[in-house]
Amino acid sequence: MTQSDDAALKVIQSKAEGVLQSDLWKILEVDSRKCSRIVKKLLDSGMIERIEFRKDGIKTFVLKAKKRPVDPNQLLAGEELIPCIGCDMECVVIECPRLLDWMYQLAICGVGE
Ligand code: SF4
Repeated sequence: MTQSDDAALKVIQSKAEGVLQSDLWKILEVDSRKCSRIVKKLLDSGMIERIEFRKDGIKTFVLKAKKRPVDPNQLLAGEELIPCIGCDMECVVIECPRLLDWMYQLAICGVGE
């Protein structure tokens, strides 16, 4: 990916509701043709989706980052599942002993295989 592709992807990923293609090229400070090429590349790589949208009667597109399934191995430290799944404790992440223990385990064993 080029720097422009990367910048466009970051803008799109930063907005859960998506970004209008007609706004994206202004945000990126590129012309609309270059923006179209960037969007095509991101669409072809499967990283974003494009939904038709009308603004003031003019057709444009909303661009949204595709949600990716979480790799289950990322939730494992060795064979130990991250404690947040199914947790009903009052959550203060930076003070959580269960999460800290799991992170030590992760440092020792690495992610699940
Ligand atoms: S950080 Fe701790 S308290 Fe918060 S959800 Fe995870 S295990 Fe539960």
